Amino acid sequence: MKKFIKTNVFIIVVAILSAALVGMSAWTVVLNIQNHKLKNRVVSTMADMDKTNDRYDKMKAENDATNSENAALEKENLDLKFKLEAAQKEIKDAKSLLNKVSAKKMIEAEKALAAQNSPQATVIPESKVCYLTFDDGPSDCTLEILKILDTYNAKATFFVVGTAKLQYLPQIVEKGHTIGLHSNTHNYSKIYKSTDAFFNDLTALSQKVYDVAGVHSKVIRFPGGSSNKVSKSYCKGVMTRLTSQVKIKGYAYFDWNVDSGDASGKNVPAKTIVNNVLNSAAKKNSICVLMHDTSSKKTTVEALPEILKGLKAMGYRFEALNEKCYGFQHTVRN
Ligand SMILES: [Zn+2]
Repeated sequence: MKKFIKTNVFIIVVAILSAALVGMSAWTVVLNIQNHKLKNRVVSTMADMDKTNDRYDKMKAENDATNSENAALEKENLDLKFKLEAAQKEIKDAKSLLNKVSAKKMIEAEKALAAQNSPQATVIPESKVCYLTFDDGPSDCTLEILKILDTYNAKATFFVVGTAKLQYLPQIVEKGHTIGLHSNTHNYSKIYKSTDAFFNDLTALSQKVYDVAGVHSKVIRFPGGSSNKVSKSYCKGVMTRLTSQVKIKGYAYFDWNVDSGDASGKNVPAKTIVNNVLNSAAKKNSICVLMHDTSSKKTTVEALPEILKGLKAMGYRFEALNEKCYGFQHTVRN
C-alpha cells in the first residue's frame, strides 16, 4: 500500500513536471513569436523613420534653396528701391530747378513790363522840390495840417488808410493836395500774404476813396515801404512781385528819402522832428519827407510850421505827388 502510494505520487509529480515543461515550452514558443513580431515592428518603424528623415532632409534642402532665393530677391528689391528713390530725387530737383528758372523768368518779365509801363521819372529832380507826405490818415489832425500847409502855400500828399477818418478826404482834394492809397486795413499779415491779397486790399481802399472824394488815385505807398522785411514772414518775395505788378496795373509807388522820425516813438518832441527833417534835407536837392497824420501825432503838427519855414529857407518848393513823379524808391529786400 505504501509502495503504491509512493509510486502514484511519483507518477503525479512526474506528470505535473511534464505538464509544466510542456506549458513552459508552449509559452516560450508564444514569447518567441511575439518577440519576432515586435522585432519586425521595430524594423519597420525604423525604416519608416529613415524615410521620414529622408523626407525631412529633402524638404530642408528645398527650404534652404527657397530661403537663399528669397534673400537674393530681397536684395534685388532693395537695390531697385534705392534706384527708384534716387530717380525720384532727381525728378524733384529738376522740378524745383525748373520752377526756380520759370519764377526768375516771370520776375524778369514783370520787371521789364513794369519799366515799360510806368510813367514815373527814373531820375531824381535836380531842382529843389520837396514832397511832404502824411501816412495813415486822415485823422483829427488833418484839418490843422491843411491849415498850416495853406499858410505856406504848400502842396502835399496824404497816403490814406481805409479805417481812418475818410470824411476829411474832400477837404484834402479841395485844397489841391494828392490823395495817395496806403492800405485799406494796414494789416501786414493780411496784405502781404500774397499779391492777390494785396490787390484785394488796395482795390477796396481805392473804391472807398472814390466813393467819398470822387478821385481815382493811382499814387500809392506800401505799408512799411517797399523795402520792408516784415512781409517776408507772410510771403517770401512778395515785395519783388508787388513793386513790378503795381506798375503794370498803372500805379506809381513812392517811398521816401527823408524820415521825420515821428513814428519812432510816442510823442517824439517837435524839435527832434524838425531837426531830423532839416538835417537830412540840407544834404539833398530833392526830397520826399515821411510824416504821419494820426490823432496821436500832435508833435508832427507842432513841428510842421518850423519844417516848412526851414525848408523854404533852403530853397525848397512844396509839391504834391502824381504818378509821373520820381518815386524815391528803396531797394527791395523781400
Ligand atoms: Zn502806414
